[in-house]
Amino acid sequence: MWSGWCLVAITAAGARAASFASWVGSRPDAPPFDAPGERYTPADALFGQIELAAAQHPGVVTAEAIGHSVSGRPIWAFHVADPGVKPDRSLVVVANLHALEWIGAEVATALLLEAIALPPRGVALTVVPIANPDGRARSEADLRAGNNLYRRANDRGADLNRDWAVHRDAVAVWRHLLPRRFAATERPLSQPETRALDALFARNRYDYAVSLHAFGGFFYHPWSGAWERPADWAAFVREGRAMETAQGGHAYRTRELSRWGFFFRAQGSEIDHLYGTYGTHSWLIELTRSGLSFAKPGEWRTYLRWYNPQDPAAHVARGMAALHALLLAPPVFLRSDPSQRHSPH
Ligand SMILES: [Zn+2]
Repeated sequence: MWSGWCLVAITAAGARAASFASWVGSRPDAPPFDAPGERYTPADALFGQIELAAAQHPGVVTAEAIGHSVSGRPIWAFHVADPGVKPDRSLVVVANLHALEWIGAEVATALLLEAIALPPRGVALTVVPIANPDGRARSEADLRAGNNLYRRANDRGADLNRDWAVHRDAVAVWRHLLPRRFAATERPLSQPETRALDALFARNRYDYAVSLHAFGGFFYHPWSGAWERPADWAAFVREGRAMETAQGGHAYRTRELSRWGFFFRAQGSEIDHLYGTYGTHSWLIELTRSGLSFAKPGEWRTYLRWYNPQDPAAHVARGMAALHALLLAPPVFLRSDPSQRHSPH
C-alpha cells in the first residue's frame, strides 16, 4: 500500500518534470538580445538553463505549472529540497511580476540554479522566476523590434502588484491625490496570474516570501497599504538587518513600505496579502539603485534601463546575498502562533 502511494507520487512528479522538459524543448531558439538588453538572458534561455540543471541533478527539483497567464503562457514554479533532509522552514521567491523588471528574473534564476546544484539544508525553496510571462514576452518583443515602450501590467492591463486582497482601500486623501498608479485593481485576485500565485501561497504557507522588483535598493516589509506597524515588526527588522549585513557595504535599506515616504504607499500588494492572509514574513526587494547613469544621459529615456543596469552581474550577486540570509533565517512558524500575527483588512 505504502509503496503504491510512493509510486503514484513519484510518477506524478516525474510527469510534471517531463512536461516542463517537453515545454522547454518546444520553445523556439532565443538568440541573444541587442543593446540595451545585451547582458540579459531571454526568458526561454533562462528556462533552458533550469531544465539543463534539473537534468544534471535528478530528484532535486520539481517543476510545476501553477497556472496560466491571460494569454495562456504557463507560470512555472520550481520546488527545490535536499533529498536527504526533512525541511524545517520554507521560502518562496517570486520575480518579474512587473513586465520590465528583468533583473528580478536574473536573481531568481541564479538562486534557483545554485540551489539545484547545492540544495539549501533544511529549507523547502520555491522559485517562480517569471510571474508575469505575458508582460515579459511583450517587453522582449519590444526590445527585438527596437521599440522603447513602458510596460508594467499583464495582458489585461492589470498591475499584478495591486491585485491582492489585503489593504486594498486607500484612505481618502491617497485615492484623490494619486488615483491611478497607487490604487488597487477593481477586485482582489482578479487576474489568473495572481490567482495561481495565491493558490501556491495558500497550499504551502511559506515562512518567508520575497517578491523581486526594481529599482531603489530597499528591503520593504509589510505593511505597504497601512500606516500601523505589523505585529512582527521586531522580527522584520531583524530579518532586514540580516539581509543588510549579508550585502555588506552600501547595502539596501530596510523599511516598512508604507512609511517610506509620501509617494510609495501601495494598496493591495502581494506582501500585505502574504503576511495578512498567511502570516508569511514577506519582503518586496527593490533591486538596484536604477540602471540609469549620469555618465550616459542618452539612456535616460530607455525604460528597460530604468530597472535593469547594463551589467546585471554585481546586482545579481547582491540580490543573492540577501536571499542567502533569508535561507539561513529560523523558521517563522516555530517561533510564534501564526494566528497572533494577523491584523489585516
Ligand atoms: Zn515592480
